[in-house]
Amino acid sequence: MNAPAVSPVLSPGSAVSPSKVVLITGASSGIGEATARRLAASGHRVMLGARRTDRIAAIAKDIQADGGAADHHELDVTSLESTRSFARAARERYGRVEVLVNNAGVMPLSTVDALKVDEWNRMIDVNVRGVLHGIAAVLPLMREQGAGHIVNIASVSGHRVDPTAAVYSATKFAVRAISEGLRQESRDLRVTVISPGLTRSELTEGISDSAVREAVHDQMGIAISASAIGAAIDYAIGQPLDVDINEVVVRPTAQG
Ligand code: NDP
Repeated sequence: MNAPAVSPVLSPGSAVSPSKVVLITGASSGIGEATARRLAASGHRVMLGARRTDRIAAIAKDIQADGGAADHHELDVTSLESTRSFARAARERYGRVEVLVNNAGVMPLSTVDALKVDEWNRMIDVNVRGVLHGIAAVLPLMREQGAGHIVNIASVSGHRVDPTAAVYSATKFAVRAISEGLRQESRDLRVTVISPGLTRSELTEGISDSAVREAVHDQMGIAISASAIGAAIDYAIGQPLDVDINEVVVRPTAQG
């Protein structure tokens, strides 16, 4: 289906702004934390969001001690109001919002037969609604600015389905569908999907089925560092404004 309504065109060759204001959801550990550190080291001004405020406060302080520009704000992406207040805090702090990294996610894997309905709902709430809330919180401002960049973290599981990952994969396929739709409707907004493969983080700690958790832990020996994902995000953000990196898959060389 071709959508007739699109936003105004961005001029080719628009200059790269060296320092962007970047909001990162789920910045208290793993990929979000590594991305905050990487982007700040590249000269961007970062706003870290997560529920564990002690963690994001400590990471922001650490970044500042290294000479970077960082702040933090409590965030629960399952709440639209919380996500809007996170975006408002960034705007008040830095005056603009140029990039949103929709990274917060959960992955309580299990078979469909296990009927862990509460966990299905949590994945939908965080991985899908959370991404939509992030978009809703920044899109009006980015349209008003005439530019912006939304980076959505999907997964290799957004490209393929495996046993125990039916619902998780569904949420990550959804992230890619939402991103592609938003991209097609936009001429002033860059939309990037980053799909990590096995990456070292706290993600597997949320798997309540011990047999599934053990099986996933066995695969994690080949996992790559979260900073590899941060580097891919840094690359996408650093392109000229008329260059939109749409899809990047970053996985261990040894992952099948
Ligand atoms: P982590 O568990 O280390 O990080 C997840 C982050 O999400 C935490 O900072 C957590 O913060 C945050 N989060 C969870 N729920 C909420 C919420 N309701 N509101 C705000 N923040 C929330 O895992 P990763 O770093 O691995 O995960 C980051 C993203 O990468 C996820 O979207 C994940 O699906 C994706 N991914 C990871 C892969 C991997 O192998 N690690 C592979 C493919 C994709 P807090 O609990 O403090 O709120």
